[in-house]
Amino acid sequence: MEDCIFCKIIAGDIPSSKVYEDEYVYAFRDINPIAPVHVLIVPKQHISCADEITPENSFIVSKIFEAIPKIAKAEGLDNGYNVLNNCGEAGGQTVMHLHFHLLGGIDLMGLVQKQ
Ligand code: AMP
Ligand code: ZN
Repeated sequence: MEDCIFCKIIAGDIPSSKVYEDEYVYAFRDINPIAPVHVLIVPKQHISCADEITPENSFIVSKIFEAIPKIAKAEGLDNGYNVLNNCGEAGGQTVMHLHFHLLGGIDLMGLVQKQ
């Protein structure tokens, strides 16, 4: 996908700090971490956001969630972690290539606004 920064990272055209790769999945450190461990996990296939997941491509999400425990273990997150997906403008998505944030070492739910 032209002009997609994550497609360029997957292709090796933009450098990244890779932590995991398989046939379907690529994972690298977030350039602006908000937690002691902050890894982005992305499908190699360009899917713009969660709204674009279909019966035909949803197996890739399974591949991502199969990779997540391996990455978490390699990162030493033995006591747990958070997985976050931002979808769309109101969801705070800034890069329109589906990605999941793997966050370790922060109290994410403590950030949630109390009603
Ligand atoms: P989101 O707001 O969910 O779309 O998250 C996009 C994330 O991509 C942000 O946390 C950015 O810090 C991160 N990011 C943007 N460009 C790069 C890059 N070149 N390498 C690593 N992470 C990046
Ligand atoms: Zn892309």
